[in-house]
This record gives sequence, structure tokens and C-alpha cells, in this order.
Amino acid sequence: MKHKSRIRTGFSEFSKKLYINTKNKILNELNANEKDWNNPKWQLKNRISDVDEIAKYTHLTDEEYENIKNVSEKYRFAITPYYFSLIDFDNPNCPIRLQSIPSIKEMNENGELDPMNEEQSNPSGKITRRYPNKLIINVTNACPVYCRHCQRRRLIGNADKNTSKNDIDESIDFIKNHQAIREVLVTGGDALLLSNSRLEYIFNELSEIDHVEVIRVGTRTLVTLPFRIDDELASLLRRYKVQLSTHFNHACEITPEAVRAIDTLVDHGILVRNQMVLLHNINDDKYCIQKTNEELHRHRVIPYYLFHPKDVKSTEHFQVDISKGLEIMKHLEGRTSGMCKPTYVYNSPGGLGKVPLVPMENIEYDENGYKLTTWENKTVKKSYHNPND
Ligand code: SF4
Repeated sequence: MKHKSRIRTGFSEFSKKLYINTKNKILNELNANEKDWNNPKWQLKNRISDVDEIAKYTHLTDEEYENIKNVSEKYRFAITPYYFSLIDFDNPNCPIRLQSIPSIKEMNENGELDPMNEEQSNPSGKITRRYPNKLIINVTNACPVYCRHCQRRRLIGNADKNTSKNDIDESIDFIKNHQAIREVLVTGGDALLLSNSRLEYIFNELSEIDHVEVIRVGTRTLVTLPFRIDDELASLLRRYKVQLSTHFNHACEITPEAVRAIDTLVDHGILVRNQMVLLHNINDDKYCIQKTNEELHRHRVIPYYLFHPKDVKSTEHFQVDISKGLEIMKHLEGRTSGMCKPTYVYNSPGGLGKVPLVPMENIEYDENGYKLTTWENKTVKKSYHNPND
């Protein structure tokens, strides 16, 4: 309980004040109103993407100013006014700040541009295929916010660009011709930056392929641009029975606006799962992971994966050791509902697929059977069972 109150959520009084203050400053500066603010197109058009814009809303030291300027010349940034308004600039380790504002640590270029070898697993169009029965179509490189830890940083480039119709059609043809494909993830970038009509075209084509049983969409708009989610979009997803994967990393991202977006989706019957990334200084704290997943569960989002961070170039400062993730998973046992426990996975380099990481100290065995350790460190025994006996 003590730790629970320590971790800020988007509903805490502090977060709400922070949000209102910065939001009002931005609206005044841009001579805009509440209706503009709630309009996703206005949010995208007014993304903060220049250090001088940041400096309009908060004091930056000369060093901070120079660092952001230098890094952003190499790796661009863009932040929706909404997400920017969640930043606590008085806290150098604010999770929103670390995920969205360029850091001088990005100049450390250790790591790989494409650790998952996605470029080499592209058989056609804009497909990435790492498994026999499921694949990804990358429909855009654009996102509302360019997360500093992104595994696809290499695709961000200098401009936002949606995948051409030609490449989409080629990808769909590939799926048509490969009967093993039962699940298609439409992602990017952020797939929900496509217009509804473009999304409908893709969903409609995929739904006409008999062997495609599941269509999923990868999006972070619930976190970075919740105004994109409305009844019209939710009805479209519902029509094609699309399932959704999103990416909350910290409880302070779970705001009233984000929950309105979640409610709109879930009330339309859309299954929403969360894929969190374990990130140093952002959420590598067992209580933070517990609280964030409990908040998601409370708001009807399924905590699905906890990804170990990938060795992406310029993101070494977000890396943690696997032992930290195992410690967190061990902590969750018995202390939270099984529904709040994601699967902790390591994505093998070179596109070799996911490896589930499970704390192993709970199970030992000898000639008599298994010795199992409960979450309270009590020991129980379970003998071997031979079904032929
Ligand atoms: S929303 Fe996803 S794809 Fe886009 S920058 Fe963030 S992590 Fe990368």
C-alpha cells in the first residue's frame, strides 16, 4: 500500500494539475480552444518537434537546450501537445519525459539498427514474417510521438510516410498465396494514423481471405493521442472483429483521456491487450510494474507482454539486466491477480523469435518428484505422475 501511493497515475491530483497547466499554456500560445485540443488532426498538426517550442513551455538550462538541439538534428522528435502536457519537467526521471524528449545519451550509438533483422524477413510488400503462421504488415512509419526507446527507430527517418497502395496490395497478395498465415498484425509506426477509409480497405481485403482468422492492430494512440479513438473508429474495428495491441509503460500514462479511449473500444467489444517494455528509470521497479498492470486490469486492458528491451542503436541507456525482469516477475507472484501478470519475454536477435523468461527458483526436482516454492516461501511436494500407471 505504501508503494502504491508513491507511484503517480494519470488520475492523481498532481498529474491532473500538471496537465491542465501545460495544456492551458499551449492553448493560449496557439490561440486554440478545447474543441481543437480534442481533435486528433489538430494534435498531429501541432506536434512539438523543435527545442524552441519546448522552451516556450518550460525553462531549459543552456546545457539541456544544446543537448536536445544536437540530438534532434540527428534523431528527430515529435510529441503531441496532449502527451507533452503530461511531462513533469521538475523531475529529470519523469517517465513521459524520458520516453519523448531526446537525451544526450542517444549519442552513444551502441546497439543495432535492426536487431530483429526485420529487413531480412521481408518476403514481399511491407511484410515482416518471423513465424510460419503470423506476420506483420507495416502500413506507415508515422507515430503521434516518436518514443526514444522505439525498436523501429530506423524507420522514423526525416518524414512521415504511409505505405503505398501498391505495397499494401503486394502484401495482401502474399498473404492470399500463403495458406499458413492465420494471423495478421497491421502495424507501423502506428497503424491508427491511417484514415478510417484506408484501414477499412486493408481490413476488408484481409477479411476476405479464408485462412486469415485473426486481424490485429498495433497502436500507441491510446497513450499518445487518445482523441483518435472514437465511436466511428471503434465501430469499424468491431465490424472486422479487429483485436488491438497497445503499449502503456507507466501508470502516469493512464489518464482520464486514455481511459475514455479504452472504454470506447471495450464497450464496442474490442479486445485490448498491453505490450509493455521494461525500461531503465521508467518502469524497472517491481511496484511500478505491479501498479501499472493493476491499473490496466481495472480499466479492462489485458496485461499481455512485458518485453525485455531490445539492443537498439542509441537506446543503451534504457537497458536493464534480465535478472531485474525476473525479480519483478517473482514479486508479482501472489501479490497481484494472475490477470495482472504479463508474460516476460526476450525477443531473440536476428529474428529468431520470442523466448519466455520465467523465474526458475520456484521448481526443483529429484528422484522423488517436484519441490515447489510458494510465493510465501513455503515448500510443497508433488510426486511424478505416469499416465500409464
Ligand atoms: S508508437 Fe511504437 S512504433 Fe511509434 S515510436 Fe513509439 S514505440 Fe515506436
